[in-house]
Amino acid sequence: MNYYSAPIAKLIDEFTKLPGIGRKTAQRLAFYVISLTNEDAYQLATAITVAKESIKYCSICTNLTDADQCNICTDRTRSDEVICVVEDPRDVIAMEKTKEYKGLYHVLHGAISPLDGIGPEEIKIKELLGRVGETTVKEVILATNPNIEGEATAMYIARLLKPLGIKVTRIAHGIPVGGDLEYADEVTLAKALEGRREV
Ligand SMILES: [Zn+2]
Repeated sequence: MNYYSAPIAKLIDEFTKLPGIGRKTAQRLAFYVISLTNEDAYQLATAITVAKESIKYCSICTNLTDADQCNICTDRTRSDEVICVVEDPRDVIAMEKTKEYKGLYHVLHGAISPLDGIGPEEIKIKELLGRVGETTVKEVILATNPNIEGEATAMYIARLLKPLGIKVTRIAHGIPVGGDLEYADEVTLAKALEGRREV
């Protein structure tokens, strides 16, 4: 038996697809949306559409941006001699919150994970090599997550970069093993960055 009219059922279905949203929460969100004024509901829908349509990958670092290049890559006050390699755009935000790092980034959009069928070709390693080959980069900091996939990815990249004569460092532990960079507090992350070691 259908408890909901079709449009509400559809809305609940869509919310259920979101990460961390179970059926119950989806139902609560759907009823919340229904209770909004037309204008607020429209603004929510528009925000989703506009974000989806305007956000793309930065042509240099593959971070998310609404321009050709992101505002970190175009910031001339930052050092272009250091690139910090992270798995996810959210990790850039985590690193930026430490206020300790003044170099550039490279976002891989994932980590090597043979079990999930993700090889080096599936993430943005080629783009990183292209950048490093043609610029003034002196150090690459590998700030992938401290779990099996993150370590494997860091080692893979280190092996490719070292023959190019670039200093390759790995952020120190202090971030719990198996943890996500995104969830590390700012002090822990700043310490991990400060205590990075050459690999
Ligand atoms: Zn960028």
